[in-house]
Amino acid sequence: MKSFEWASASTVQDAVKLLTPTKPDADPDEQPHPIAGGQDLLTSMKEYLVRPSRVVNLKTIAGLDQIKDDGKGGLTIGATVTLAALIDNPAIASKYPGLHEAAASIATPQIRNLGTIGGNLCQRPRCWYFRLESAVCKKKGGKTCYAALGQNKYNAIFPTGPSNIVHPSDLATMLVALGATLTIAGPAAPRTIPVEEFFVTPEDNIRKENVLKDGEIVTEIQLPAPIGKSTYVKFKERESLDFAMAAVAAVIQLGAGGNVQTARVVLGGVASIPWRVTDVEKALVGKPLNDAAMEAAAKGALAGAQPLSQNEYKVPLTQALVKRALAKLTA
Ligand SMILES: Cc1cc2nc3c(=O)[nH]c(=O)nc-3n(C[C@H](O)[C@H](O)[C@H](O)COP(=O)(O)OP(=O)(O)OC[C@H]3O[C@@H](n4cnc5c(N)ncnc54)[C@H](O)[C@@H]3O)c2cc1C
Repeated sequence: MKSFEWASASTVQDAVKLLTPTKPDADPDEQPHPIAGGQDLLTSMKEYLVRPSRVVNLKTIAGLDQIKDDGKGGLTIGATVTLAALIDNPAIASKYPGLHEAAASIATPQIRNLGTIGGNLCQRPRCWYFRLESAVCKKKGGKTCYAALGQNKYNAIFPTGPSNIVHPSDLATMLVALGATLTIAGPAAPRTIPVEEFFVTPEDNIRKENVLKDGEIVTEIQLPAPIGKSTYVKFKERESLDFAMAAVAAVIQLGAGGNVQTARVVLGGVASIPWRVTDVEKALVGKPLNDAAMEAAAKGALAGAQPLSQNEYKVPLTQALVKRALAKLTA
């Protein structure tokens, strides 16, 4: 690990100041980095994936670890709320069961006790080549995406540019389905954007996975009042702890006649960003959620998939998960 300076921020403004680069032209992986639970950052530093000159502790900022009622039927979740606190929160379990399921599917109790929602959304991809110190792949500023022709069992089946990474965060997929927003603080005025617009593809920016600029941090996530029932179904290779080989986050609101009034369906583990399938959502609206509708949704959701040499299995797997998620919401 490269040596670094440690700083603990006492306020959001303090963190922003400490994170503002002293050498703006340096490699983004060498700029000051925030740390929350450290469950991804410390490993990334040990692997020399990131080599920050300064690490800024966000856990010392008072109030960022709170889950609050927003007074409008929704919730506001501070960026340093741990995954364990999310799971234990009764309002999340009752109003957003999909988010509860997504959080509970992540890693181990030990990692969930330390890992935070902000860190989970900003964690780096898990592609073997990206994580391997000796492989300078495209995402690290090199010339080759080694996964394209190499070991690509866990990589993307929806191409989004010159790298084949998948987004690793389970919460990201579910938060997009729930229509959540998040607030970013930085040297400029704070801004709030849909979580869906937070993530960027390798086409947009090969070196980053989100829109955060130098000196910016996520301060909170806002969940709007729930619009229907939600669920998160995930397939992992190891039941004990693992990232999603594929996952589906779904929110369905049924109208008075039993037909679908609102549908949001987002796939995880298949692309560099949470993969929302809006055509499928539109096709579900106005119809009963029966076997034929679920079958059509499953087919439609994977219609544009272009698997790599070792991950064709993700197509039928994800189709099965789409059907399973929708069936759960009819129960
Ligand atoms: C063995 C293992 C299994 C895992 N399995 C899963 C899984 O199945 N599903 C899943 O979703 N995740 C999984 N994870 C990832 C884990 O959930 C994340 O590593 C963890 O949530 C990160 O949170 P943290 O607070 O520890 O972040 P940190 O490690 O502190 O930070 C992670 C990254 O986010 C940045 N960051 C942190 N907070 C902020 C903020 N507020 N604003 C801007 N940037 C910020 C840091 O600079 C760093 O780049 C796994 C991790 C491990 C080690």
